[in-house]
Amino acid sequence: MIPKGLYIHVPFCVRKCPYCDFYSETDLTLTQPYTEAVIRNINQRNCYADTVYFGGGTPSLLTAKQIENILSAVKIADGAEITMECNPNTVTEKYLRDILSAGVNRISFGIQSLDDGELKMLGRIHDSQTAVNAVQLAYEAGFRNISADLMLCTANQTMYSLGNTLEKLVKLPLTHVSAYMLKIEPDTPYGRNDSILPLLPDEDETADMYLFAVKKLAENGFEQYEISNFAKDGFESRHNLKYWRCEEYYGIGPSAHSFIDGVRRACPKNLQQFISQETQTELVTEENGGDYEEQTMLSLRLTKEGLDLDKISGGDEISNRAKPLINAGLMKRDGSRLMLTAEGCLVSNEIICRLIV
Ligand code: SF4
Repeated sequence: MIPKGLYIHVPFCVRKCPYCDFYSETDLTLTQPYTEAVIRNINQRNCYADTVYFGGGTPSLLTAKQIENILSAVKIADGAEITMECNPNTVTEKYLRDILSAGVNRISFGIQSLDDGELKMLGRIHDSQTAVNAVQLAYEAGFRNISADLMLCTANQTMYSLGNTLEKLVKLPLTHVSAYMLKIEPDTPYGRNDSILPLLPDEDETADMYLFAVKKLAENGFEQYEISNFAKDGFESRHNLKYWRCEEYYGIGPSAHSFIDGVRRACPKNLQQFISQETQTELVTEENGGDYEEQTMLSLRLTKEGLDLDKISGGDEISNRAKPLINAGLMKRDGSRLMLTAEGCLVSNEIICRLIV
């Protein structure tokens, strides 16, 4: 049996951040019945995994014992990567030691910024010092694979404040950084509030900030390997690589997605239903997941691996279409591999459409 990825969606948050459209609830009394439902579903699928990812929501709102009980239900392959997203405000050194003993070996902190004004605008419950302390605590607790999420182009962010955040961030004992541009989702308080728009950087500033972050991270040993992801050598997220390489993964928990036997499915965004059902409902979202078009699109997100033109049908045609993009500095070639440059990442959707339509 070949191990797969396992994504566990933990749908709890202390309070909702105004920009976020991930599914979560603030009723923390439901964490125990939720944990039992997760274990039930893992057992039914007989999950065998070489990567486990607790995402959310705020997984660090589960107790270390609950995390341990969930992991005990999974058949875990030797050397597996087990990641947990943590909110900097919800961890103590004891908690971090306990989850390390439970098997978690990679932490991903939702830091977003190290500027207190920006954090306030984002509605986060932590400040910059708490974030710095959390990374240090994790390191002292024994974690040697720590990632930070960073948000670019947020309200009131400037090149200067972003520079300060990056300056402080690269001094922390991190192995990985995910840098996402703020996207205004319609069904969020941000999306319903027009007054936020004038506070956001314009298109040119957005591009400058992204390229600046790519450069600054590279100068400090965080090599870009995906449009929004940067890692020190050997510390790429093995779990997330499965998504971009169209490899299989289970998805457990409300709003979690799975990809098994070529079929993509999603569990409804309904915690009560997830808890009360013997087996989670999974709705088919795509019958032919991982087809040629999807594989091409996803592999082009990988800025180090890229798309191997020798391994796909129509490679010559794509190669021809890529020539003007290479000349424009938006793509590059490495042997049979074709990948986006940092400038190309800024217009990745347009490039992908030009290559595969
Ligand atoms: S950004 Fe994170 S902490 Fe904030 S509501 Fe979304 S999942 Fe919860």
